[in-house]
Amino acid sequence: MPDDETRKFKRVLIKLSGEALREVGSHDNISPPIVESIASQIKAAHQSGLEIAVVVGGGNFWRGISASNRGMERATADYMGMLATVMNSLAVQSMLEGMDVPTRVQSAIKMDNVAEPFIRRKAMRHLELGRVVIFAAGTGNPFFSTDTTAALRASEISADVVLKATKVDGIYDSDPNKNPNAVRYERLTYQEALTRQLKVMDATAFSLCQENNMPIVVFDMNGPDNIRRALTGESIGTIVTNDA
Ligand code: UDP
Repeated sequence: MPDDETRKFKRVLIKLSGEALREVGSHDNISPPIVESIASQIKAAHQSGLEIAVVVGGGNFWRGISASNRGMERATADYMGMLATVMNSLAVQSMLEGMDVPTRVQSAIKMDNVAEPFIRRKAMRHLELGRVVIFAAGTGNPFFSTDTTAALRASEISADVVLKATKVDGIYDSDPNKNPNAVRYERLTYQEALTRQLKVMDATAFSLCQENNMPIVVFDMNGPDNIRRALTGESIGTIVTNDA
């Protein structure tokens, strides 16, 4: 990937956490104005001809591991988490469709009344035809995360990059909210991220990207227009590759 001002992407996958859809301090799990802002930025990037896939997390509703730490059986709790991602995916789809952006939700757990099943070749066809594809229900398997889903689906559809939207402007050597001397990386290798146990993505997701040579860009989604900028290849955030 070129290291100049803009990276030339054709097909990208953006990973939004469930929390990205929630307004800070609100009791509502999904904030329509926030989803609208995200959708309008996706629309702007889509209009530039980019092929866009989306993976949405479910942490604004439910996280399997937290529930299992409080006594619930892990696999069931994880299935509940996957169902939560479907609600978020439908919210993003609804907002995009309201802006006349053709969109398909493909679910890894079969639920024909609300979403198509995940079929890789069909997803790629949708992308070629200019439809935004939202991958719901994670990988369909408990004990995984939606970060891993993003790494997996991006690899399956031969995306150019995984864009991971976060609340910080890249990857730091320690938590910048706790350590004022934390140093931000411009570039990083998967191996460094794994060895230093940097918490921005889980190890399974990093390893999968490493094996498939899938670049990851970690960026702050809250800056004005940052989602559109990341989608269209502006050099924001930290990039993780095999050769930093
Ligand atoms: N999940 C799962 N398998 C997957 C993806 C997700 O079991 O392939 C469950 C897991 O319980 C997870 C929850 O869905 O905690 C929500 O996903 P995640 O925590 O990744 O969401 P985010 O933190 O991105 O909002």
